Amino acid sequence: MKENHNHHQSNGAWQRHRKKVYVAPAHDGKGKGVFAARPIHAGEKVLVFRGPLMERSQITTQEDLEHSLLIEPGLYMGPSGGEDDYINHSCDPTTALVGRQTLIASRNIAEDEEITVDYDTLWLEPGWSMKCACGSSNCRGLVGAS
Ligand SMILES: [Zn+2]
Repeated sequence: MKENHNHHQSNGAWQRHRKKVYVAPAHDGKGKGVFAARPIHAGEKVLVFRGPLMERSQITTQEDLEHSLLIEPGLYMGPSGGEDDYINHSCDPTTALVGRQTLIASRNIAEDEEITVDYDTLWLEPGWSMKCACGSSNCRGLVGAS
């Protein structure tokens, strides 16, 4: 029993040391973003979206909606309370969603660079759109309007 406990502790420390991402205030000063805690190579798994599966009617606040991922029409992965709640959009993103819930680095990501995904590659609520000022040279200016 004691041995197990010690084993878990050292395991936890190792995971903290190896943490790939952290949450910090976003560059635009609005809300939060997710940033690389260490260099991440193209093709590496960055994070997995987690959270309770919910229908739209179960999500009652704007904040919860912003922290949810639509994984197929009508079905959301609600807020997890973790880093995955704070992934911002970029028209020139550093990651791509593979499958329903895994973000993979689409190029090499430097330490402290923001983890972003192109929201237009995700399922979006009908009628949802957002002005974009991500600053990339290929910025479309508007996301989700199609
Ligand atoms: Zn943009």
